[in-house]
Amino acid sequence: MNVYRRLLGYSFKYKYRLITGVVLSFLVSVLNGASLTSIIPIFDAIGKGGKADFQITLTKKDRSVLEIQNSGKEVEGVQKLELILAEAKVGANGYLSSLPKDELVLLFCLFIFPIYLAKLLFLAGAVYCINSGGYLAVRDLRLELYSKAQELPLNQFVQEKTGIFMSRIINDVEVLAKLISSDLKDAIVDFFYIITHLLILLIISWEMFVAVLVIVPLIMGPVTSFADRIRKATRNQQERLSALNGHLQEVISGIRVIRAFSMEKTEAGRFWEINNDLSEKTFKGHFYHQIGPSLVELSSSIVAVIFLGFGAYLMELRQFSLGDFMVFFLTLVFLTRPFKQMGMLSNSIQSAVAAGNRVFEMLDSETDIKQPANPILPKRLSKELKFESVGYTYPGAKTPALSDLNLTIPKGATVALVGASGAGKSTIVDLIPRLVDPSEGSITWDGTDLRNLDLAALRKKVSIVNQQVFLFNGTIRENICYGTENVSEEKMREASEMAFATDFILSFEDGFDTVVGERGVMLSGGQRQRISIARALLNNPEILILDEATSALDTESERVVQQALESLYKNRTVLIIAHRLSTVQIADTIFAMEAGKVVEYGSHSELIRLDGKYKKLYEMQFAESPT
Ligand code: ADP
Ligand code: MG
Repeated sequence: MNVYRRLLGYSFKYKYRLITGVVLSFLVSVLNGASLTSIIPIFDAIGKGGKADFQITLTKKDRSVLEIQNSGKEVEGVQKLELILAEAKVGANGYLSSLPKDELVLLFCLFIFPIYLAKLLFLAGAVYCINSGGYLAVRDLRLELYSKAQELPLNQFVQEKTGIFMSRIINDVEVLAKLISSDLKDAIVDFFYIITHLLILLIISWEMFVAVLVIVPLIMGPVTSFADRIRKATRNQQERLSALNGHLQEVISGIRVIRAFSMEKTEAGRFWEINNDLSEKTFKGHFYHQIGPSLVELSSSIVAVIFLGFGAYLMELRQFSLGDFMVFFLTLVFLTRPFKQMGMLSNSIQSAVAAGNRVFEMLDSETDIKQPANPILPKRLSKELKFESVGYTYPGAKTPALSDLNLTIPKGATVALVGASGAGKSTIVDLIPRLVDPSEGSITWDGTDLRNLDLAALRKKVSIVNQQVFLFNGTIRENICYGTENVSEEKMREASEMAFATDFILSFEDGFDTVVGERGVMLSGGQRQRISIARALLNNPEILILDEATSALDTESERVVQQALESLYKNRTVLIIAHRLSTVQIADTIFAMEAGKVVEYGSHSELIRLDGKYKKLYEMQFAESPT
């Protein structure tokens, strides 16, 4: 029920367009009725043998005002106008009765033409107002979803497949768009068609109208049960489509892994299943869809046959004229289309409700990272960034990734985190720009909880360089400048120089304007790494975080980049995570981590002297690769 209400809310978003559209739709249906009924005199004229004798009926008022005139008395005030009208009618009747039949018919046809013209104009207006309102509302909805996707918890992007998000923003929204634009317009126009045209039927002949009410439902019974079947068959189609979408997305982004592990056959098998399922279900839905209209046609033709007979009988009894009969019949046939469309509407509503449910579920899902109600603008870090009894458990995980973690990162210090893979180093890093928030404890910026700081301002102060580098489709220049505004060529080149990226960039024909392909496949891992380091440097962050940033580089370039980075450590607070302990020796403090906790900390020499876990780790690496 809630979904209906919200869908209605969206269609009411541009209400002035909607209201105008409704009024125009009403006029369209009235004009349509007028064009249909104006056929009555034509058929009546044709039906009668010899001379056509169509006359405009004079009202009581007409007659009384004419009598006054005839008796020689003066007419006064409003009556003067009424007299002019009555005399015009009499004059017209005189003219009409002098006309031969064919000319009379022609005259009526000319009269119908402007009605059709007006109907066309009003219909165009109604379509414009309602459809454009619907698409504007949908544009807004899509934007809402997009912004929502930007705020959703990061772990959802891992848990849920990207294809599902994409399918919601693209396919599901399209289904809603159809409902609140073209389908809504049809529904409104059809509604008025039905109301006005049923009224016409009732006025022409109540006997026939009653007969319609009795017989039509009997015949339409089977039609509705068939419609149910259509609904059932199409219900899951959309979801199957998004499953296919999700699978493809996964296979395409994971193509390297699939090839490397020779999983092509298995993946093809999965694809075959989803694809086959989709094809079967889609065919079933389409089959019913194609057959449906013919079934409706059959039923309505049965109705037509019955009424032709009954009508002929009533005509024999002189209950009504040939014109009445023809118009009744035409109106009845005309009415089948709006009724049919109304029936189909329930289909659209069904799939729109399903799509709406998915869309609103996404819109309503909790965003874990919120901008505080009264955000404090963070000042330059003057003292320290402090983790106090911080715990963090990933949603759905059994064991915490971090527990009771205490660490202090003094302003301007270079701090390193070391430890086995899975120890929680990257999780700590994600907590600083609030990509995730701690489940327990707090992190403070000069004593202020991060959760009270302005989110965008905080993130601006922190740059992370990861091992996995994401490059956007675009040029190298655009990728280096991503996230920083108004960058001068000089600054950009300086950053690239410091990241030791200039040499390889200039070796490309287009230099900084070289386009990197989707996810930058044409660059080596090390090259991408250096672009992302240049990006972070250009951003000139207060806190620079290098999460295994140089591990994709070969030893030689790592040494070079490392040197470049070291000169940058001086003016800012730096957090380094590295596997190769040789790169962390220069750190002021090294935190050795194990299973989400800090087990030892101190400078390199202090930790070696301590002769604990760090020393063991160090000796192990030293034995492996003497550097
Ligand atoms: P490190 O960077 O030290 O290798 P991480 O911080 O990445 O370690 O991971 C710490 C722990 O949290 C590991 O046990 C890991 O399995 C778990 N973990 C990491 N990311 C997620 C996630 N998105 N969802 C669930 N568990 C996660
Ligand atoms: Mg990590």
